[in-house]
Amino acid sequence: MLKKLNVILEIQEFDIKMIRLMKLKKTRKNELEEIDALKKNLRQKIVDKESETQEIKLETTSYEDTIKEIKEKIKRYESQQEQVKKIEEFNALNQEISRADRERANLEHKLNAASDQLMAEEELLTTLQSTYDSTTENSKALEEEILSNINEVNKEGATLKVQRDALTPKAEAEIFGIYEKLINNKRDRVVVAVSNRCCSGCHIALTAQQENLVRKGERIVFCEHCSRILYWAAEPEQAEAEATPRRRRRKVAAP
Ligand SMILES: [Zn+2]
Repeated sequence: MLKKLNVILEIQEFDIKMIRLMKLKKTRKNELEEIDALKKNLRQKIVDKESETQEIKLETTSYEDTIKEIKEKIKRYESQQEQVKKIEEFNALNQEISRADRERANLEHKLNAASDQLMAEEELLTTLQSTYDSTTENSKALEEEILSNINEVNKEGATLKVQRDALTPKAEAEIFGIYEKLINNKRDRVVVAVSNRCCSGCHIALTAQQENLVRKGERIVFCEHCSRILYWAAEPEQAEAEATPRRRRRKVAAP
């Protein structure tokens, strides 16, 4: 394996952890935004409902006032009737009275409908208000949990960054530059092992020639399909062969 890749691989592990933390932080921030949007939405509904109720209240007051005026008008007509001498004048006033009375009945009908509506709207307003209160109360614990989680993520990220920054001066500038461009673009591992003759990043098979180049480890080899940097990991048999003698020695040393 190309030696200068070793430190890049170490840096990569820190970067992958940091990328995961950033994703987690984004998810948690989105959760907070959703809670906030839910509360804002409820708040807006309450405001709208309040103004609707206010309008209906004004409407009922205006009906009540007009009805009162009509009733007074009818009383005036009735007292005029007592004073008139001619039957025609009496009848004319009678007609005015019944016209006014029809208007009054019509308005009272509207007033009743508006009063019913007002009651229904006020009930809805109470329900909305209590939904808002319980949502605010229930989400409080969740919001606190998310905020403390974000805080932890920030701390963990800062620690990882210190460790990563301590490694970067050890990396060769050229290869580190290439690596950073790749990882910033893919947000995933970009220095990957060849496994079963495939790139373990995109799982597409390598040509024999490419495989040979990676195995030699003389220069940087990129996967032709996903542009990741490839390296040759120790064969499993080889790793086992290295471990076996140690196990044997321990067995011999035991009583
Ligand atoms: Zn690939």
